[in-house]
Amino acid sequence: MKRNDSFLMPDYYIHFMCKMGECRHACCEGWPVSISRDDYFRLLGLECDADLRRRIDCGAHILDHATPERYAQITHKYDGQCHMRMEDGRCAIQATLGEDLLPEVCRLYPRALRTTGHNECSCTASCERVIEMLFFRKEPLSLIEREIEYTPLRNGTNTVFDETSGNEQEFRLQLIKIIQDRSLPLNRRIINLGKELKVETKADNSECPIDTMRQIVSILDEKSVSLCDYGVSILDQITSIDKYQVLKAVFESCYPDWQSGIENVIVNHLFYSRFPFGDEGMSFKDEFYALCLIYALIRFLCIGAVGVSDGDEYLTDVLAAAFRMIEHMPFHKYASALMHGLGITDDNLISLLSI
Ligand code: SF4
Repeated sequence: MKRNDSFLMPDYYIHFMCKMGECRHACCEGWPVSISRDDYFRLLGLECDADLRRRIDCGAHILDHATPERYAQITHKYDGQCHMRMEDGRCAIQATLGEDLLPEVCRLYPRALRTTGHNECSCTASCERVIEMLFFRKEPLSLIEREIEYTPLRNGTNTVFDETSGNEQEFRLQLIKIIQDRSLPLNRRIINLGKELKVETKADNSECPIDTMRQIVSILDEKSVSLCDYGVSILDQITSIDKYQVLKAVFESCYPDWQSGIENVIVNHLFYSRFPFGDEGMSFKDEFYALCLIYALIRFLCIGAVGVSDGDEYLTDVLAAAFRMIEHMPFHKYASALMHGLGITDDNLISLLSI
């Protein structure tokens, strides 16, 4: 049964439109999309024409370790496409029976609605269109309150953290303001955000840690199918600090507004992931380490991307692939362990922000 409620959201949310057939890396292509038990059996029981029935019967398989939330997975055709995807990029279920009969994940993606604590919604930056709306916009994101119609979701619990005793949203919006303070360079703003989280980082004048970033990207390539191909090509570009400096100059001249672009992508991630109160329940310090890694990774990938291919499309694809890993895997959970494993501590964390 649908409801109407007021939600806090980034201002782009009301303007989001899927690119459908125009999308170069559609979410209906090659992604291991899992659907719930309710959605799976509802699909099997749908009254529909023979063509759609054939698509649905081939279109999903029950997972080995099925749970009510992750019960079945979309089965892809030989070309990586979902069986329900039509030539023009539309979904045959939505096109013939309407949006309400889509599995929840397909109906919502890239949107994410949260109704625990405060009603909030935003979009994940793993979507090509969302990255385009964030990175290529100069003005900062603003948060707006709008009433939207939605189908109530199965929700998790709302955790109150001692540090903020119920004022989580207020505290989070305060942190977002720090990241949007354009009187300072973006990496300085991140340091200031760390101070707000009581993470004291020491000044560090050591050289830009290119070797460490190369190690990090190689490790992440192994963990993320989405990022892998891009990571390998980018590592072939950034082979030394000199090569890095050359590409950095190219990137910053091609994208003079890179700070506002990356700021928007990071602010969206902070809001989307409810930073620093992420679902993994990490400490503020670990959350801050993860944020520093996200900043350094975005910078490193963007700078390497201009060496692989000029033009906005490749850069967009690299960023969307990176956020498939960051926002659809427990990235915040293993980020600080990964960094500690490579010798990054409070003493030299700042060097990562000099990337
Ligand atoms: S990735 Fe985004 S733009 Fe592309 S098909 Fe999916 S929702 Fe649409």
